[in-house]
Amino acid sequence: NTSLHEFDPAVAAAVDAELHRQQSTLEMIASENFAPVAVMEAQGSVLTNKYAEGYPGRRYYGGCEHVDVVEQIAIDRVKELFGAEHANVQPHSGAQANAAAMFALLKPGDTIMGLNLAHGGHLTHGMKINFSGKLYDVVAYHVGDDGRVDMAEVERLAKESRPKLIVAGWSAYPRQLDFAEFRRIADEVGAYLMVDMAHFAGLVAAGLHPNPVPHAHVVTTTTHKTLGGPRGGVILSTAELAKKINSAVFPGQQGGPLEHVIAAKAVSFKVAASEDFKERQRRTLEGARILAERLVKDDVRAVGVDVLSGGTDVHLVLVDLRHSELDGQQAEDRLHEVGITVNRNAIPNDPRPPMVTSGLRIGTPALATRGFEAEDFAEVADVIAETLKAPSPFGAADADALKARVKALADRHPLYAGLNK
Ligand code: PLP
Repeated sequence: NTSLHEFDPAVAAAVDAELHRQQSTLEMIASENFAPVAVMEAQGSVLTNKYAEGYPGRRYYGGCEHVDVVEQIAIDRVKELFGAEHANVQPHSGAQANAAAMFALLKPGDTIMGLNLAHGGHLTHGMKINFSGKLYDVVAYHVGDDGRVDMAEVERLAKESRPKLIVAGWSAYPRQLDFAEFRRIADEVGAYLMVDMAHFAGLVAAGLHPNPVPHAHVVTTTTHKTLGGPRGGVILSTAELAKKINSAVFPGQQGGPLEHVIAAKAVSFKVAASEDFKERQRRTLEGARILAERLVKDDVRAVGVDVLSGGTDVHLVLVDLRHSELDGQQAEDRLHEVGITVNRNAIPNDPRPPMVTSGLRIGTPALATRGFEAEDFAEVADVIAETLKAPSPFGAADADALKARVKALADRHPLYAGLNK
């Protein structure tokens, strides 16, 4: 029963340093968030010790009476949150959820359609060396010149290729998808519609984004992005597909479920049903809008910086650096230097290589969780604009002034104050 700090100072020191990094910098990676202490407490609980292959009430191990309660709570809450007929809360991650959903509905060699990776799709939507690209025949659709998914292309490709599954969803896209139109096209060609709402699930839970559940056969999500819970995945489906989905997750893809993570998912679904959560998602959207508005002003445009699709309807902004002297890597490094964490991102028709890119993906969920309000987001947006505008080489004096503004924002909204050792 020795504590982590006593038993393993090397690991403890790295964990402490990570806590300090999260507290002292501004986290703007669009897929990240800060899980509440109650969620982390559930995830760090004795449930990590328990084997529970199977499902509540039908396990292959004894002693599952308490984890059954936990898993059933998680299932009931997530069904209620999104209005789904069936939920499987066992996928270890978003990628596992997508793998299991595809395993349930497809055979190797079947055709799937998904949004091209450089146009905002996820690896699991058909990227060449991902399982989805190796097992299935992939037909990718794209965004048009306006930065929005080209639904005419989706319809044309669907009619030509007659896919078995159409995936609607994204990792880097600043607009909402038309789920009803996707379903109409899927029905027309006899395809399943799977929506991967990993990024925007929190917005859906708060009623601030259209809910894909009524339109899709299957909806997959992660629980750690806008939803703000532990790292993990969930599959929602119609009652008709329940059996197929469950047996694709276990025994199809996974062994024992992570009941400690499922407990943490259950807690996060309770959080997501609250008024506070709704208010936080509202600030998330407001922050992204403020950022997009700042990054299309003339002073930033003058140095070749622009915003893809001209704005945002969601929790992230995609910055277009195709005409900037800074590439994605340099812009990411500069922001890192002033204490803002973002990720570079390939954008449609990117002239630079994938490890460099001409884009940045900047998200507001983590800062909204930290308590940022409109005026804070306006200050962050201005710091980002000034950082991207500064002439090269980026001097220490420029960085120091911006760093001080970042520190003031971080100090104004303390994070995990009770966790410092
Ligand atoms: N689906 C989408 C749309 C994502 O953006 C991601 C992760 O970024 C995933 C699935 C995969 O989630 P995980 O990293 O938990 O496997």
